[in-house]
Amino acid sequence: MHVTSKDFDEKARAAIADDQLQMGLFVFGKIFPLMRDAKAAELPEFEGLRDSARDIKTNVLENLGTYLDAFEARAEEAGGRIHWARTAEEANSIVERLCEEVGAKDIIKSKSMVTEELELNDHLIDKGYSVVETDLGEYIIQLRNEKPFHIVGPALHLNAGQVSDTFYEAHKKHGRTEKVEDKVKLVEEARIVLRERFKNADVGITGANFLVAETGQIVLVTNEGNADLTATLPKRHIVVTGIEKIVPTLDDLSVFLRILARSATGQDTSNYVSLYSGPRRARDADGPEQFDIVLVDNGRTDMLGTPVEEMLRCIRCGACLNSCPVFSTVGGQTYGSVYSGPMGAVWTPALASVSSAAKLPNASSFCGKCEEVCPVRIPLPSMMRHWREKEFEAHLTPSGQRWGLGMWAWLGKHPSLYRAATNLAGIGLRLISKGRSGKRLATWLPFIGQGWTQSRDLAVPQEPTFLSQYKEGRRR
Ligand code: SF4
Repeated sequence: MHVTSKDFDEKARAAIADDQLQMGLFVFGKIFPLMRDAKAAELPEFEGLRDSARDIKTNVLENLGTYLDAFEARAEEAGGRIHWARTAEEANSIVERLCEEVGAKDIIKSKSMVTEELELNDHLIDKGYSVVETDLGEYIIQLRNEKPFHIVGPALHLNAGQVSDTFYEAHKKHGRTEKVEDKVKLVEEARIVLRERFKNADVGITGANFLVAETGQIVLVTNEGNADLTATLPKRHIVVTGIEKIVPTLDDLSVFLRILARSATGQDTSNYVSLYSGPRRARDADGPEQFDIVLVDNGRTDMLGTPVEEMLRCIRCGACLNSCPVFSTVGGQTYGSVYSGPMGAVWTPALASVSSAAKLPNASSFCGKCEEVCPVRIPLPSMMRHWREKEFEAHLTPSGQRWGLGMWAWLGKHPSLYRAATNLAGIGLRLISKGRSGKRLATWLPFIGQGWTQSRDLAVPQEPTFLSQYKEGRRR
């Protein structure tokens, strides 16, 4: 997985200065959380469903091998073929071989985060295949040569004008010479161009939202219907999915289906929920002649038994991104990883490395909102803290920060010096503070405090301090 998170600070500054992006982020950061909260409130058992979902996934992770074996057996009984991939390279080679087997030239894809993680498109295009994303958002960012902005809405950052410019340039070769600006017409144009790709495709590649061990089925949850065309029209359907997507039974699946769309987009359910097992049978009207499932590890089993194991419960709903104050200020492409926001701050160091993604676990205010909304109750802040500790142990944190933290720890072990230092700091802050609307604020700090006051004011501690009140025995 190619990660450019080292540039997080520069990209964040650019994102904050981008007025158009800020306007889009403001609307998105407000509307999605409100829709999620409203849908959750309509369902009295929502909190109970979250507990059940957490428990089901915990059981799955404790018995992952057993459920994967059961899934493999059922999927093969239905005529599918299972392929195991330990690494991204193995997964990409397997898909390439499967495409070769059918003499494929044209490949269509439906949105899949794991294929983004594997950089499968680049691999196949390098080998000479034509690969087209068919989810509208993914299609747009593919034309723009960008990475997904958001795990659910990959092109959420773009407005109609930008999409219009992109289509105008890209669709000339398809005979579309008129510039279209109306949103409905833009969708129509994408549909017309993509229809030809659907008709000509030799292979369709999808991900899977869930794998059902009991039945060997893969489950696709979408809003556009493109995944179903991708799965059924070409002669070969290849499913590429992470091994953690397994659920034991159809009953368990129903729990996840009730929380996924509500958490992701504030819908009761998504427009399409499809379960696939095996290739077309004699009585079927349509469907692929071959059905292959590539089960990808790529670092997932290394997470088992570690402090970040619970991240494997993630169902990629994006609720943590939508409610994160950092994500909704800087946007997804700032993170330099296909997985962004709070979930990306845990996934990326786990799958890439702490050194390549050290900035991400620090891109958090630790407000805890991500954990509050996560439908499978993943303790995201604790896991970000884990990566911060690893970063500190590996001496990846800046020397000023290490020095400051060491000093703070030393002071913490010497209470009288700690009190003296905090009293002095309080006096200093009060001296340089100004009254604004009745509030005392420090607007300029020297040394490492500069970083804080360059972009915001610091509230000055009020008097008397808690410790002095405690000493005097005044309890409120
Ligand atoms: S961590 Fe939780 S909230 Fe975030 S995408 Fe995964 S399941 Fe959704």
